[in-house]
Amino acid sequence: MSEVSHAAIALVPASCTSCLICVRECPAWCIELDSHVEQVSEPGARRPRSVSVLDRFAIDYALCMYCGICVDVCPFDALHWVGAPVEPAGTRGDLVLGTDELAGLAAPTAPGEDWTRDERGGARG
Ligand code: SF4
Ligand code: SF4
Repeated sequence: MSEVSHAAIALVPASCTSCLICVRECPAWCIELDSHVEQVSEPGARRPRSVSVLDRFAIDYALCMYCGICVDVCPFDALHWVGAPVEPAGTRGDLVLGTDELAGLAAPTAPGEDWTRDERGGARG
């Protein structure tokens, strides 16, 4: 028997609207987000629309409790569980993963292909 493992949380930067919901809901306050506002003109629109553009997203895995609240509350599916665990770090600061690192953790697991911890102690299922 295998059990589903949620080893880390990855980010899809293109899906993140910088809405800050995950930042506010994280009980460990371990998500950092920087963004700026840009004016976007769309054909036919009377005036430009203001949109938030993500500059930096980071999770401090030294503080993260792996509760999954951020994944659950994101309205845009920009966060998802991956099975590959965060690499051990030499310093606490190395456990703060930024946008590119979070994006590169792994591809989203497809339905029915959740990673699992098996008897090998690995994180593959
Ligand atoms: S899993 Fe929980 S503690 Fe970790 S970043 Fe998400 S909300 Fe915060
Ligand atoms: S809740 Fe989702 S869309 Fe909003 S800031 Fe967090 S990751 Fe980005």
